[in-house]
Amino acid sequence: MTETPTRCPMCGGIGSVVARVTLKALLTPDGLRRGVPEEPRYCGAAECPVVYFDADARVTFTEADLIVPVYAKHSGEASVPVCYCFGVTAGEMRDAERASGLREMVAVQVKAAHCACEVKNPSGRCCLGDLVRLERGAAQAMPSCCATT
Ligand SMILES: [Zn+2]
Repeated sequence: MTETPTRCPMCGGIGSVVARVTLKALLTPDGLRRGVPEEPRYCGAAECPVVYFDADARVTFTEADLIVPVYAKHSGEASVPVCYCFGVTAGEMRDAERASGLREMVAVQVKAAHCACEVKNPSGRCCLGDLVRLERGAAQAMPSCCATT
């Protein structure tokens, strides 16, 4: 068994393991026609156009091959989804008054095992970490008199 190369052929960053079903769910018809690699990896680097790669198969998929925008590539855009399962955007999470409630809503759903990250989120992973980061950022952006702990 040779070790699967894990570095993105474009940016050189380490790619995380992602399930084939994630690509099957999120690639466009054109992307699917190119074939889902056996051991796909996900590149979450913001500046890198590659979303999925498999260095063995020398195949890469960019955001244009996906049916959804990729949060990791557009974290500054208000309309990009952060939580793909329950529909929370980056813009909503920057609203300090709503961020905590939205994060809590998602946490409850995740706890109830209602999430579908594997087939909804391009990273194939739970979005809660991103939500928590955005919630903190929103709280910090508030005037200190209104900031919650
Ligand atoms: Zn990359």
